[in-house]
Formats: sequence, C-alpha cells, structure tokens
Amino acid sequence: MSDPSSPSDPRASIATRVFVVGAGIMGSGIAAQCALSGHLVTLEDVNESLAAKGVENARRALDSAVRRGKIAPAARDEALGRIDSAIGLRRADSADFIIEAAPEKLELKRGLFEELERSASPKAILATNTSSLPVTSIASRLSDPGRLVGIHFFNPVLQMELVELIPGHQSRPEVVEKAKAFAQGLGKKVVLSRDTPGFVTTRALAVLGNEAVFMLYEGVATRDDIDAAYRLGFHHPMGPFELLDLVGLDTALAILDVLFDGFKDPKYRACPLLRTMVEAKKLGRKTGEGFYVYPAKPAA
Ligand code: NAD
Repeated sequence: MSDPSSPSDPRASIATRVFVVGAGIMGSGIAAQCALSGHLVTLEDVNESLAAKGVENARRALDSAVRRGKIAPAARDEALGRIDSAIGLRRADSADFIIEAAPEKLELKRGLFEELERSASPKAILATNTSSLPVTSIASRLSDPGRLVGIHFFNPVLQMELVELIPGHQSRPEVVEKAKAFAQGLGKKVVLSRDTPGFVTTRALAVLGNEAVFMLYEGVATRDDIDAAYRLGFHHPMGPFELLDLVGLDTALAILDVLFDGFKDPKYRACPLLRTMVEAKKLGRKTGEGFYVYPAKPAA
C-alpha cells in the first residue's frame, strides 16, 4: 500500500481525500465512483484480504463501465491509480470526507464513528451509507453530532443515479450542503429524506422484497414466476429475488428488523424464510448462493 501523503504519489495532486470504511459491496462501489470523479480514495476494512478484495471489486466495477462504453480505459486506469487500501481507522486522519459503509448494525456504526471522531480531522465531514438506521442514533455518541449526515448510495453505485441525503436531527446545515455538493459532484441526483427508519427508498423496497419472499414461502408462485411478474408487470429492471441476492440477504433482513423495531408495525415483519436463509449463510451473490446459485468468479 502506498502512502498518499508522499509527494511522489500521483494521487497527491487531487484535492479531496475520501476515506471509505468497509470495503464490501457498497464500499468498493463508492470507492470506484469517488476515484472516477477525481478524488483520492482510501478503502478500509478489518483485514488485508478484505481490503484487497474491495479494491479488486472496485476494479471490476470500473472494467464493467468500460465494457458498457460508459468510460474510456484511460479513465478507468486513472481512477484505479487513485484508490489505495488500509487496515484500521488511523489513516482517516488526512481525509476531508469519510463515508462509512460497514454492516447495517447500529452499535458497530456508533463505535466506528466514536473512533473516527478521535482519529479524523475535526473539519472532516462524517457520512454514513446506512440504508435504514436513524442517522440521529448513529451520531448519538459523538461529541459533535452536527458533523454527521446520511448519504445513501445505491447498488451498483457506478450505474445508479440516485443518492438519498438524510440529515440527522443535529446535522449542521453546512454539513448537509457540503454532502449534497459532494454527491452532485459525483454526478448523482440527490433527494432529501427526513430521518425516519428506512427513509423513502429502503422503506418502499423492503416491503416489496419481503412480500415476494412471503409469496414464495406460501407457495403462491415459483421464484422465477415472481421475478418475472415484478420485471414484466412493473417494468422493474430486476426481479425481487435477483435484487435480494444483489443487495445481500443479511442486509435485507437487518433493514426489515430496523423498520419493525422503529415503527413497531407488523407490516415490516421479516418472512421466516429470509431469516432461515441468512442463518444458513445463503446471503446472495457475495456468498455464491442466495435465491439463485452463482458460479465462482475467475481469478483476475
Ligand atoms: P457488505 O457486507 O458487503 O460489506 C461490509 C464490509 O464492512 C465488509 O467488507 C466487512 O468486512 C466490513 N467491516 C465489518 N466491520 C468493520 C469494521 N469494524 N471496520 C471496517 N470495516 C468493517 O455490506 P454492504 O452491502 O456493502 O453494506 C454496507 C452498508 O451499506 C450497510 O449499512 C448497508 O445497509 C448499506 N447499503 C447497502 C446496499 C446494498 O445493496 N448492499 C445499498 C445501499 C446501502
């Protein structure tokens, strides 16, 4: 791993340094998107192999953008030159913008931001990519909760135009404005949501996906027919099971539990089949099996 503060590092000429916590599905996509927009990115995870896997997945996302004719090979290569990896939060000290994309667990996120508040510059913006947890709760243990905002990207990040921006109750207006400008600078359209569980998009999608799992569980229709019904009947680009496999069944279940706890409304109760599949580690594409089975990716 190179040191981005070194004057010989080509990445040192780019103004904004972005530190991404969690190099999974979303962290790797966010890293690719930020690097493509000219930011210097450090992608962090708990160990070397996970951080390296995140960088590899960022490369795959950029390769796919080249194949789809969205970017030139040179833009991909330059973006890759701006992505570095790290273990631990110490390297967040030089970042201007910190985006947390760790698993959807409130205590984990709270702890990460407490640590980030100690290691990051006081001027750095703290942002969480949570898809359902109240931003105000995530910020609640910070001594300066006003510097944290929700910035919800969509999967796959390079292909999805939307960012949902969620100010917490204490987020300072200038922090929200800077986060909005940052997302717009990545070429995203920004919608604003109040800080309620699941915001706008996740709340709607969770119900649609959970209902599909219930229909499969109850034998109303087959997996393939339910996927075809959503795709062809509603013009959805993917069926609900294809989408659940892409999102990760663990993330989908965590989201439903947040909605159920937050609203205390049975309409958000997760289907038992979803919980069983998560317990069986059938998490979707990331484990090679979910509602569908995925062949192993060839080594790069
Ligand atoms: P993921 O499981 O693919 O990745 C999470 C990564 O965080 C893993 O690589 C894991 O090793 C790492 N991690 C765990 N503990 C950590 C720690 N203490 N420090 C640093 N890294 C740590 O999850 P994901 O799907 O990328 O989701 C991340 C966040 O983005 C969640 O809050 C999720 O709700 C949200 N989100 C997910 C999607 C989606 O489609 N998957 C879409 C929008 C938002």
